[in-house]
Amino acid sequence: MPIPRRLWERLIVNVGIDQDETRWADVSNKTLNQLIQELTQGQYTISGKGIFKEEFVTCGGIKLNQVDFKTMESRQCPGLYLAGEILDIDGVTGGFNFQSAWTTGWLAGQAMGAMS
Ligand SMILES: Cc1cc2nc3c(=O)[nH]c(=O)nc-3n(C[C@H](O)[C@H](O)[C@H](O)COP(=O)(O)OP(=O)(O)OC[C@H]3O[C@@H](n4cnc5c(N)ncnc54)[C@H](O)[C@@H]3O)c2cc1C
Repeated sequence: MPIPRRLWERLIVNVGIDQDETRWADVSNKTLNQLIQELTQGQYTISGKGIFKEEFVTCGGIKLNQVDFKTMESRQCPGLYLAGEILDIDGVTGGFNFQSAWTTGWLAGQAMGAMS
């Protein structure tokens, strides 16, 4: 899975690469090694939390077209059933994320139960 753009931009700033000025061919081995260190061992201090209403849903990363919505079975990994926040669903606040979690959980449970 690709690294989110904002994270990537932050990582290269942390090792001193100017994304507007520097060509990849000109990046030194030392800086590349620093980038590898940053990618694998970077440490970050939490400085605060998001403002109210920003925190509701992670929109977990599984694309909706990778799931059969009748059963919630993964199209990429048959036998794996998915529900709730792991799916790329970002409902507006007011219960839509709860509803999504409950509905997809129910569908997945029904489908798994029908198999046994
Ligand atoms: C502060 C906040 C406010 C929210 N308010 C709203 C709202 O008003 N309306 C709304 O619709 N949605 C709201 N949401 C979003 C909603 O809570 C989630 O979308 C929903 O709960 C997702 O359900 P889920 O079952 O997918 O995940 P979760 O509810 O996160 O459940 C996952 C469960 O798995 C457990 N777990 C994790 N790892 C493991 C493991 N390795 N082994 C065993 N168990 C594990 C966790 O402990 C957890 O109990 C809010 C979320 C937050 C954080």
